[in-house]
Amino acid sequence: MTKANGEFDLIARHFARPAANAVLGVGDDCALLNVTNGMDLAVSTDTMVSGTHFFPEVDPEHLGHKSLAVNLSDMAAMGAMPYWAMLAITVPSVDHAWLGAFAKGFFDLAEEFNVSLVGGDTTRGPLSLTVTIMGEVPAGAALRRSGAKAGNDIWVSGHIGDAALAVAHRHGRLKLEEADYNEAVMRLYEPMPRVQLGQALRGQATAAIDISDGLLGDLGHICRLSGVGATVELARIPLSDIAARHIESDAGRTAVVAGGDDYELCFTAPANSRESIDDLQNMLGVHLTRIGQIRRGKGVSLLGPDGKAVKVDGRGYDHFSGA
Ligand code: ADP
Ligand code: MG
Repeated sequence: MTKANGEFDLIARHFARPAANAVLGVGDDCALLNVTNGMDLAVSTDTMVSGTHFFPEVDPEHLGHKSLAVNLSDMAAMGAMPYWAMLAITVPSVDHAWLGAFAKGFFDLAEEFNVSLVGGDTTRGPLSLTVTIMGEVPAGAALRRSGAKAGNDIWVSGHIGDAALAVAHRHGRLKLEEADYNEAVMRLYEPMPRVQLGQALRGQATAAIDISDGLLGDLGHICRLSGVGATVELARIPLSDIAARHIESDAGRTAVVAGGDDYELCFTAPANSRESIDDLQNMLGVHLTRIGQIRRGKGVSLLGPDGKAVKVDGRGYDHFSGA
């Protein structure tokens, strides 16, 4: 964007807020961040494009929340403490009502996690949002995807599937009751990143990932990078009442196990950590469920209650082998 006054006004009006935990925030050529000795700097970025990652008519406040939430979720998956965010926003026109609502969704969540917006970029074009998040994790202690070992338990936080069920409903692949859709779609619009859980899992989990692309696919990433396989028991997967009503149908089951957008954490841990992980549930007020085991080999197998492989999406479970 040419440096018209409008752009500076827009930034000043919607995005320039005091950056509590930065040496210098929005306004100069760079932000300045004071990084703590003995910590690794954790950095991640995610782009959301209209029509690909969200429905074009989405409420801008939800979008503001989600653009930051998906990045906080990456921090959670590494066990990192998020401190700083950058926001690159491309908008088709300057709509102050829209920008104000977007900023509210963004900053409400940022304040909840003490994250400062320290800079970004503002351009004109098809609606797209890129957030970069930065944080710290004690040197060497980050949760990686590569540490899972045969015999480890596989855990998942919260319950999964609602966001993908809402998407499947929107695409006509299945039909949710109106009240169910209204509830499920909030999981899609306003996911709550498991930041405290991620930090609490440092030193306990051997590997972790946040579920953005679907449980089986994301667990497949852990398997590929750890050089192991995984067996998941369908009946153990934690479901909402809504998801429980649809798990018997092919479309419902596919949404739950392969749909994504939950932003829950999937992690692995040795069996002798069960008690301490159970304790975390009460400490953090989040459900943690063991859904299966890491094994030698490769790929993710999904087993039904009869112990037989369950097909997903009309294909064999090895669709998710991640090879
Ligand atoms: P430059 O020409 O150096 O790229 P800009 O005019 O793009 O500077 O930005 C001016 C200041 O405003 C910079 O500090 C930049 O980080 C910040 N900024 C621009 N857009 C945003 C945004 N959407 N959110 C937060 N900060 C922003
Ligand atoms: Mg710029």
